[in-house]
Amino acid sequence: MSVQFIICPHCAIELRKGIKVCRSCDATVSYGVPWPYTMTALLPSIWLAIASHHFFYDSLLVSMLIGSTLFGGLWAMLSMAFDDRVVFRRATR
Ligand SMILES: [Zn+2]
Repeated sequence: MSVQFIICPHCAIELRKGIKVCRSCDATVSYGVPWPYTMTALLPSIWLAIASHHFFYDSLLVSMLIGSTLFGGLWAMLSMAFDDRVVFRRATR
């Protein structure tokens, strides 16, 4: 994997991708899938696990397997969709 660079929108300096805090203005940098999307993927997975729990004769293992498979699939899609997402958030002072 090659080193990628991102530009801070607050102070316009170049930062190495993966950095958590801008070294110039202390803005926090976050990457990847935003948490509301994580919840959006998690909820139907839990629902399906609960629903399948009745269908597969109360087999907890099968239900957990189905739920985690769905979540894994949704998460993989979200991770691809938000692969290049970088958000700078500067603390208000
Ligand atoms: Zn900055």
